[in-house]
Amino acid sequence: MTHCPKCKQKLKLPITMLVGSIVVCPQCGSHLRIVGRDPDRMEILTEEQSLNKNGYPESYA
Ligand SMILES: [Zn+2]
Repeated sequence: MTHCPKCKQKLKLPITMLVGSIVVCPQCGSHLRIVGRDPDRMEILTEEQSLNKNGYPESYA
């Protein structure tokens, strides 16, 4: 369990998500990159950074 660094929404990351995965906060829509697991740590990406990543950000639905 971790929190969105922007809005503090609680996020439960699937165990299959690895460091470097991108998720979208369901509350504020921020693009977040997983920078650590166990404990989970996230960093906010700018829209531009997230668009530069190959592939579409994984939805957090
Ligand atoms: Zn958020």
